[in-house]
Amino acid sequence: MACDECKKRVSSLWRVFGVLVLGVAAGYAGNELSYVDWKPAMVPVDEVAVTLRYDAMGDGHFGAKRSRGRKHRGIDIAAPFGSSVFAVKSGMVLEAGEHGSLGKYVEILHKGQTTTLYAHLSDVHVKAGERVRQGDEIGKIGKTGNADHPDILPHVHFEYMVYGDRVYPSLLGFKILDPEKTNTDAV
Ligand SMILES: [Zn+2]
Repeated sequence: MACDECKKRVSSLWRVFGVLVLGVAAGYAGNELSYVDWKPAMVPVDEVAVTLRYDAMGDGHFGAKRSRGRKHRGIDIAAPFGSSVFAVKSGMVLEAGEHGSLGKYVEILHKGQTTTLYAHLSDVHVKAGERVRQGDEIGKIGKTGNADHPDILPHVHFEYMVYGDRVYPSLLGFKILDPEKTNTDAV
């Protein structure tokens, strides 16, 4: 075993082993890092606080009246058409696709059995099963689904679910500005 050739072989084997260990460690760290949230929740549009949609067709409050006795199941965040929509927390994409009333949408599963949903997008940049980090761009603001009406302003319909129940998105902790009121409060 003392031959030079043998030593070379042994050292190259160690090198391969080292690379494998580093690869696995980096992969593990990568997966773990995707679940690190630097803030409790990020605003899903390029603003420090979100402004609710308010137009001739209705308003974007949680629980606002909708046609046929329905109630609004999320909030409508007003933003310029084509601007970025971000993941509010890290997680895994549960669904990304198209739906009759939601239009193009993305649903993300986060830690603690919570999910967030982003709808009426003009473009979707992620696929089901993909891991996303807080702040990753998942799509663009649009008017797809039932937002496809000339009097409805571009917005992202945003829902927050805890154990499958839709709750007030203000529980995520970001500031929500109500265009009907001058002060800012939870809606
Ligand atoms: Zn909505």
